[in-house]
Parts: sequence; C-alpha cells; structure tokens
Amino acid sequence: MRERETLEFDVLFVGAGPAGLAGAYHLSQLVRSHNRALEGGPAAGAGRLGEISIAVIEKGREVNSHAFSGAILDLRALRELIPDFAGRGAPVETRVTGDHICYLTRTGKFSSPFIPPPLNNHGHSVISLGKLVGWLAAECEQNGINIFAETSGVELLFDGDRVMGVRCGDKGVDKQGNPKANHEPGVDLIAKVTILGEGPRGTLTKRLIGGYPLDRTCNPQVYSIGVKETWQLPDDRIQAGTVTHTLGYPLGRTIFGGGFLYMRSHRVLDAGLVVGPEHGDPTTDPHRLFNDWKRHPMIVGLLKGASLIGYGAKAIPEGGLFSQPKLVHDGVMIIGDSAGFLNSQRLKGIHLAMKSGMLAAEAAFEALLARDFSSVQLERYPEKYRESWAYRELYRVRNFHQGFQAGLLTGILHGGLQMITGGRGLWSRYPTKASHEYMKKLPDISRAAPEPSSAPSPLFPSPLPSSAKQFDNTLVLDKVTDVYHSGTGHEEDQPCHLHVLDINVCKDRCTREFGNPCQYFCPAAVYEIVDADRGRMPFINFSNCVHCKTCDIMDPYQIIDWVPPQGGDGPGYKNM
Ligand code: SF4
Repeated sequence: MRERETLEFDVLFVGAGPAGLAGAYHLSQLVRSHNRALEGGPAAGAGRLGEISIAVIEKGREVNSHAFSGAILDLRALRELIPDFAGRGAPVETRVTGDHICYLTRTGKFSSPFIPPPLNNHGHSVISLGKLVGWLAAECEQNGINIFAETSGVELLFDGDRVMGVRCGDKGVDKQGNPKANHEPGVDLIAKVTILGEGPRGTLTKRLIGGYPLDRTCNPQVYSIGVKETWQLPDDRIQAGTVTHTLGYPLGRTIFGGGFLYMRSHRVLDAGLVVGPEHGDPTTDPHRLFNDWKRHPMIVGLLKGASLIGYGAKAIPEGGLFSQPKLVHDGVMIIGDSAGFLNSQRLKGIHLAMKSGMLAAEAAFEALLARDFSSVQLERYPEKYRESWAYRELYRVRNFHQGFQAGLLTGILHGGLQMITGGRGLWSRYPTKASHEYMKKLPDISRAAPEPSSAPSPLFPSPLPSSAKQFDNTLVLDKVTDVYHSGTGHEEDQPCHLHVLDINVCKDRCTREFGNPCQYFCPAAVYEIVDADRGRMPFINFSNCVHCKTCDIMDPYQIIDWVPPQGGDGPGYKNM
C-alpha cells in the first residue's frame, strides 16, 4: 500500500473558481510588489518575504470543468485585479448591447417599458464563466501559482482548533471502499493559511461552519437552483450582448425566480431558469419548470432550429449579507459562493466572489508578514471587507431576497420600499429560513404528487396541448439527455458520493410525509424511487450527478451529505 504524501505551501486555495483564482493571483502580485520595493533599498533584501508558495486545488478534471454560471460580469473586480485585462486577452469582449424585461403569461408576454436600475447591465459583459476561469488560471500559472486539477479536498486537517491544511481524496478505491490496483492515496496539503472557495455548500466549508459554529449569529443561507442550457443558433436572429430577463410563466406569482436569455457571443445563447425554495411544494422540479418555460411561444421562437451545446445546474446562495457566516477561523478563511458573496437583486456574484478572494489574499499577505495565522490576525479580511465596495453593495440589498418569502408581488413591494430606505425596508433585518425548512408536507398541499419528470408541471400546466409529446429531444429534453450534454462522468466502481445517513427515513417517513422530493428537485435524475422490501426507497444513479448540491441543501431531513467523488469526476462543462 502506498504511503500518503505530504506537500507544504504557504497559502492553499481550495477551488479554482473566480474567487480562488482572483485571490491567488492577487496574493502573488502583492508578494512580488513587496519584494521589488525592498530590493535595492538601504538594506537590500531585508524584510523580503522571498518565495511564497501558493497552490490552488480543483476537483474538476480540468481547471474549468465545473465552472458554471449565467453569466453577466460586472468588470469592477477584474479591473482592480488586472487593469490591462483587455490587452491580456480576457474573454469578456461581448459587452451588453441591450436589456429587456418581459412578464410572461402562458402564451403571451408584456415587455417592461423601463429597466429598473439594478437590472441595467450597461457597461457589463456577457461571459462564459468557464472561459474566464480558464484564462485566469493561465494568468495564475504564469505567475508561479501551482494549480492541481482532479484534486478534491475531502477533509480539513487540524492542529488543535487551527486549520493546518486539507486532505485530498484517494483515487482507485472500489465501491466497498477497498483499494484497487491503481490506488493512489490523496495527498495531505499543509498550509499556513487555507482559503475555502468551494462554491455553494462546499463540503469543507459546511464542516467548518457547522463545527465551530460560524453561523451562530447570521440568518440561515437560502439557496435557489439555476438550470441552464447553451444553444447554438442557426442565424443572427439576436444581436450578441442582448440580455433578457423573464418573470411570470411558469413560476407565476408564488415562486421566486425567473428566466434569463443572455446572447453570449455570435449565435451562442445561454437560456436558463432560476427557482427559489419559498413556495414549499416538495414536488417542484426545476428542470421540468425549465422545460415548461422553453415551451412558451417566445422561447420556442428564439430556439427554433438551434442546437444544444451544453447543460448544467447549480445552487445559488441568495441570502445576502445577513446569511454570511463568520468568514475566518484560526488558519482559514471563506470566500466566494461558499461565503454567500452574491447580489440576488442584481443577479450577479462573480465580481463579488473575485473581490472576496482579493480581500482574503490581502489578509493572508499581512498574516505572512506578521507570521501570525490566528483568527485574530485573519480578522483583517472581514475588516477589509466592511471597508470595501463589496460590503456597501451587499448592504444596500441586505433584505432583498427575504422580501420575496410571500411571493412575487409582495417581494416587488418590499424591494421598492428597500430601495427608498437604503436597503432597510419595513424591518432592519428580515428573517429567513434554511431552504429545506420551507418545504411543506404532502397533506399540506392540495393535490396529489405528479409522476416525476413525465407530466407537465402540476402548478403551472404547459401551454402546449396535452396531446403534445412531453420530450421531443430537440427543444424539450429529459433529464438524462440533458446530463449527456453536461459531459458528466464518474468512475462507477467507487463509493457513492451521496451519503444518505439513514435510508429508513427515506422508506418510511419521507415517502409518507414529503413524497421523496429528491426525485423532483435533482436536475440530473440521480434519485429514482423504487419499490423495496419495506417500502419505497431511493436508488442513486450517482454517476449522473452534476454537483449542483441541491440534494444536500433541500433534503427535508438533512440526511443527504454530498461529499466529493474521486478527483476529476463530475461535470465536464465546456465554457458554461
Ligand atoms: Fe445535484 Fe444532488 Fe442531483 Fe447531484 S445528486 S445533481 S448534487 S441534486
């Protein structure tokens, strides 16, 4: 049996998203500027930090295989990070050329005559997050940063209460957990500072927040789920840079969320739907609602003759400022989506994620100079955050998402009041609940559960005649076909990465109380409810999993624990 190796770094970033890569790059520049400033001084070399080793680990098979977003980029953080980004070839060339907002009825639409300021995207870029991440990673590598793809962090390493690094997952382990002939023990990565940017509901972040607990004084985080397809259009029917947001059908007035159509580049269109959890219906299926949305005549017209080039899904942390946990603990900081850096009013988070990584990098730099990695020293990160434009931006929308708990109309009223009162609204801090706590039991909803993914949405029936085929696999695809377009793959002979902590709860209580909502909310058909000896229980097709984390978030009993599979497995997103 091979021994587990240990590698040491000064600073370790977990997750090569925009937060982690921006942080790693910024830190390398801070160290370089510091060392240059001291060179040639009266005591040349004195006080230099010297070579600082920075590493980034990423669980995807390539650095951007799991990068997934809408996305419109506010360029503010990128401008601060790399002022000559355009000259260096940053893939942000498609500037927004026009904003549109439509309210959809079942078959019609009303176009808004004006665009509310938060949704005015003038000056921003429509991007592929995957391309941006790939470019940022190349910039990092040119600056000596070590990036390890196919490497998942599975466990935090502690020295007492201080985080001292991360254990990476083994490779070559069979279904029963036994080493196979190709077994490779995961490396222990030891670092003076570990920075967690694992995306929404990161595994290590969840353990850290729960263990200490860093969320003692904040609102619970509340997540929506976003489902997106990327389409190649056959002609120039929409100008590159055109941005359209839709409200209404199929979400109606009760479900927080809406559709988006972002014309990313010449003939490439991102089309997606975001669905919040507040409606509480355990049979809500975001993928099915997305298909209903695509059946709307407006979307049908836009996608006519187009070919699908990608699919994916992702949980979106919408809780805002009041749902952010404590950002530091001894030896560790939390950045990006893992720490809830997202402005749900502006539908943007990439610039905030990047800024959070940069602020954490500045705190890590100061900690390296002080040779102090305690939480007291790392508090410089939240201090810098509170002095930054990122905090001011999130403060202005601190109650936004919570205002939508009773539906769209009251949400719009609360949103208007909050804009007038600088983000306050009726109360200084609107309460919220964790996403799964909104879920109602079957007896509390007034209809029978539908068959998963085989019938039109029970809440908002399709505008097509009932004789129409549910899936035509041209415009409207079933989950498994969509998963094919996400490039997802997992080694089959490995332990299942979806840990159901008490399967009896699924068979007995959940079937009766909630109707096994995992079969609906999973956008990748991972959970199939089958007849078993003593009832119905989930059969888990884990190889379909697109790593959206919805099951870990939405399971009403909180008994699904998502852990990283073997490094390199999961979606194979291409420029999503
Ligand atoms: Fe998302 Fe969980 Fe389904 Fe994977 S199994 S795709 S994490 S809901």
